[in-house]
Amino acid sequence: MVIARSIRLRGVVQGVGFRPFVFRLARANALSGWVLNAGEGVEIHAEGPEASLDAFVRELQEQPPPASHIASIDVSAAAAAGFNGFVIRESRAGVAPTVRISPDLPVCGDCLRELFTPNDRRYRYPYINCTNCGPRYTVITGLPYDRGRTTMQSWEMDGYCAAQYHDPADRRFHAQPVACPACGPHCRLHIGGEIVEGDREAIGRAAGLLREGAIVAVKGLGGYHLACDAANTAAVLALRERKFRKEKPFAVMVRDLDQARLLVELSNAAEAELTSIARPIVLAPARRVLAGVAPDTGDLGVMLPYTPLHHLLFAEGAPDPIVMTSANRSNEPIAYQDADAFERLAGIADAFLAGERPIARRVDDSVVRVGAFGTTVLRRARGYAPGAVARIPVDRPILALGADLKNALTLVVEGQAFVSQYIGDLEHYEAFQAFTETIRDLTTMYDVPHDRLLVVRDCHPQYASSLHAPGMPTVQHHRAHIASVLAEREAWDEPVVGVSFDGTGYGDDGGIWGGEFFAGSIAAGFERVAHLRGAVLPGGDAAARYPVQAAAGFLAQMDGLPDLADRPFGFPGRYRQSLDLARRGVRTYATTSAGRLFDTAAALAGFTRPITYEGQAAMWLENLAAGSVDCREAYPFPADGHELDYRPLLRAMIDDRMRGEDPAVMARRFHRGVAQGVCDAVLAISRARDLKTVVLSGGVFQNQLLLCDLKGLLDGSGLTVWTNRAVPPNDGGVSLGQAALAAFGRFDKAYA
Ligand SMILES: [Zn+2]
Ligand SMILES: [Zn+2]
Repeated sequence: MVIARSIRLRGVVQGVGFRPFVFRLARANALSGWVLNAGEGVEIHAEGPEASLDAFVRELQEQPPPASHIASIDVSAAAAAGFNGFVIRESRAGVAPTVRISPDLPVCGDCLRELFTPNDRRYRYPYINCTNCGPRYTVITGLPYDRGRTTMQSWEMDGYCAAQYHDPADRRFHAQPVACPACGPHCRLHIGGEIVEGDREAIGRAAGLLREGAIVAVKGLGGYHLACDAANTAAVLALRERKFRKEKPFAVMVRDLDQARLLVELSNAAEAELTSIARPIVLAPARRVLAGVAPDTGDLGVMLPYTPLHHLLFAEGAPDPIVMTSANRSNEPIAYQDADAFERLAGIADAFLAGERPIARRVDDSVVRVGAFGTTVLRRARGYAPGAVARIPVDRPILALGADLKNALTLVVEGQAFVSQYIGDLEHYEAFQAFTETIRDLTTMYDVPHDRLLVVRDCHPQYASSLHAPGMPTVQHHRAHIASVLAEREAWDEPVVGVSFDGTGYGDDGGIWGGEFFAGSIAAGFERVAHLRGAVLPGGDAAARYPVQAAAGFLAQMDGLPDLADRPFGFPGRYRQSLDLARRGVRTYATTSAGRLFDTAAALAGFTRPITYEGQAAMWLENLAAGSVDCREAYPFPADGHELDYRPLLRAMIDDRMRGEDPAVMARRFHRGVAQGVCDAVLAISRARDLKTVVLSGGVFQNQLLLCDLKGLLDGSGLTVWTNRAVPPNDGGVSLGQAALAAFGRFDKAYA
């Protein structure tokens, strides 16, 4: 007997090959009816024998397309209408913004098989894709998403591709970037004045150049990479020199999971991230040392190939692993337009492997790590952006401008919070341009009515993002960090103890904050209840680049110190000058920055040179500590519900060093001391205010050793600990917190 069912699916079910999948499944079960994209998901009407319908509903959930995610399925009885066959119907109008733009997808298994099948039409074709895979966000130039509004618009499909594109039973049904060697774009290699034409020849020659130690710029999904043989130290050092990137770690790409396992230690969870649909760079403990690739850290960032071109490079014999780093000079944004890339990278790359398909917008690789509290996204870009991360209960659209370092934007439309890709450090002109472009891009794509748009910014008066939106309401930096964790979990009313530790953020009192404890919730606002004991930063911003200068600002608060210019410390002259400034109160700024406390500890343990990238000294200290013999001792870091006093902690460090203690042991004891101090403060605050949940956020909590120590201390406390998952704990997550606090009207007092 023929019966009918109405099925509604929600989640990530549009733009990911879901309708053709439903179509094929319905045909396979001999059902009739229809499927369509509706406002908030996919709707199906299916008719047939009950057993077939049951099988259909089961299989829908068992084997959905790889890029899809079914959040909910709702099956109800319907009246049979006697349909003849199964069809894909036109979408209903009013598609919700959440489903308009999908992140980019890695090449799928089916396309990979075709890529390496000699008699396939797309054999070794670097632009192979289907509805389950390929570019999305990086090719979309307008909405709704169809071929004419992508960077593929200048290539007309031939009969072969068009037939697949229009066939509901085909894997390429409505795959907007579909192409084949006969009708689609190609890539070529530019080397000196020579141009190597032909996909296979160009890619083969590029692989050969990499084997010989050359640096090759490779056009990817969201921009160019600079690639070189990761095991060729001379090539790696040449890349560092040409790119003006002295020490910051490079990520590497490996052929497959087996190669990744040889390079880094991967837990099951880390492997799941590495092979996930976002294909991020995964930071994991290094097993093999690649000289010059990631100095000063025990971790290595590893990723798998995600475009057909990457797979072809390895198939053509490229070295394994290869360094794959964003193509830019120093801190500039990644190059993504051909002319710009050729110009900016002229002195860096020996050759350019340039594909013809234009890139619509720059999107860097994402970076994640699996740590003590689960997976954390450290840089959120390709594969995640511009996906929605939370539903915020607010009627009007909100644009949150984020922080100036590691900038990312959050746009709230129809209650959905979309977090942009990582943009960069806005003090650089190019990054600031990218910031304004991304604002225009997102507000246009999501049809934001400008007259109703609420813009919110950081309270730092000198931030480029603040100057971009003068007079707009502000949210304090460290409160935004705490709110970012709660917003991800949509915990608007949850009262928490919030610990916000980072390098720099503008405080309520105009000081440089960074070691802050709050009590409250997003809905009720956050009260600052405790903080690191005050110190000063002599010389302002430069103190963030010279750990000994930061140290002077903390040590100036203590008496009876030895002369740290002497052995074993050997601080350079900058220290004494800074100490003098700090003691006289000349050109000094009040601070409670935990980031600068870590810099101070690094200096005392031997890091007396300037840093060459943000967070370097703390990373060095963590790595040093991780290599120490197991020690349970913690330096004293007395804390109550109001203040953490770093003086005994630093005094103990100095005494240890004077006694000739191993700096690795000192670094370990420092981490344990900080964890114990934070734990004591949290317990005091939670008891006094009867709070059961603790939130940890801010760049300092990228430190895995600190998180492990804290987890050990807090596990038995009965408190629940929350950290960031979807947005970074560093300043890349600030805009989400700003948006959440703005939605509840929790601006800084001046705007309340
Ligand atoms: Zn595919
Ligand atoms: Zn074609």
